[in-house]
This record gives sequence, C-alpha cells and structure tokens, in this order.
Amino acid sequence: MTAKDTDTIGFYAREAETYASRRREPAVIQLDQFLAHLPAGASILELGCGGGQDSRYMLDRRYDVHPTDGTPELAAEAAKRLNHPVGVLLFEDIDAQAQYHGIFANACLLHVPRAALPAIIGKIHIALKPSGTFYASYKAGEAEGRDRFDRFYNYPSEQWLRELYAQFGWSKIEITELTGSGYDNEPTNWLHVTATK
Ligand code: SAM
Repeated sequence: MTAKDTDTIGFYAREAETYASRRREPAVIQLDQFLAHLPAGASILELGCGGGQDSRYMLDRRYDVHPTDGTPELAAEAAKRLNHPVGVLLFEDIDAQAQYHGIFANACLLHVPRAALPAIIGKIHIALKPSGTFYASYKAGEAEGRDRFDRFYNYPSEQWLRELYAQFGWSKIEITELTGSGYDNEPTNWLHVTATK
C-alpha cells in the first residue's frame, strides 16, 4: 500500500510557486504548544513543510530544524524562501531511528490513504528519541475522499485516530478539535494530535 497519492503530489508540483508564495502565517498556536515540549535547540524533523513558513518560525528560534517535503518542486520553493536546505522526503521513506526530539507534520499526513497511515505513524515513532513529541493535524470527517483540486484526504474521526495511534505505545495522546480553513477556503474541522513517545 503506497502512502503517496499521485494526483495530490501532482497538484502541489503544478502549484508549487503559487502555493509557496501565498500569504500564510505560521501556525503559531500549534507551533508554540509543540515547542513547549522540547529542549532548547532541539532536533526537529518537519514533514510536508509546503512553503516552509513553520520551519521559518522554528529556525528563527534557533531549533535544529530539518524541513522536508515529498513534492520536489515545493521543496525547492521552500529552500529558496528559507535560504536553508529542504530535503525531498516522502512519508514512506522516513528511516531515521531515535534521531529527533520532535516531528512536526501540519496538514500533510491528511493526504495519506488510511490503509497506509499505520506504517507511517510507526516510522515516526521509531524516528523519535525517547520522550520525543509528534504533532500532526488532519481534516476531520467520516470517510476518505477528494477536494475540488482532486487532492486526496483521509478525513478521520477523533475515535479513528485514537485507535490508530494507540497501536504504537505512545505515553500520551492529546487530540483537540478546532474550526478553521485551508487552501480551498472551505470551513473545516481540524483535529490537532500531539503524541508523546
Ligand atoms: N505543512 C504545510 C502547511 O501547513 O502549509 C503544507 C501543507 S500542504 C496541505 C500538504 C503538504 O504535504 C504539501 O507540501 C505536499 O507536497 C506534502 N505531501 C503530500 N503527500 C506527501 C507524501 N506522500 N510525502 C511527503 N509529503 C507529502
């Protein structure tokens, strides 16, 4: 089961420059809550960094940030804007072991088919140091589907995510639901998940 949806990556490749240069403030509330779990200068892997605004926020606060994205065109756009290397990394290719204090995945694992998500959460668990922190956000829903840009979403419920994460022995899992929006400007219920190894 592949974790990569070709149409979704195709959208980000085509739209890379527009997507990276759109006006988007960093996810300050989620970033500050995530960073509060980590030591000064912590080693952080950002997955699906898009235009790199959240990595910018963490780099400016002197964390050891490793921004990555699975769309090469978007990784290149983020690298230009950050003036910092951005790795091309598909979720399924994560192979670090006990390397990071924190892994930040804002609005990106929501593109992974449900059947492929357990393997990715398992890789993230392995990539974290003991007591490490993992943040991810998902668009809430009841069934997998696509948006009007043909991007794929797993649209989980809170219960579905709890049962999935519980398979990996996190010491703590916190899920908060907040309303917001996204690139499509549609009203959206977001599930913000913070898990501690
Ligand atoms: N995190 C950024 C933000 O909050 O603005 C970008 C979010 S955007 C909705 C989703 C990102 O996930 C895109 O940058 C896309 O290239 C990346 N992505 C999608 N599928 C991926 C995959 N299988 N592996 C790695 N990155 C992927």
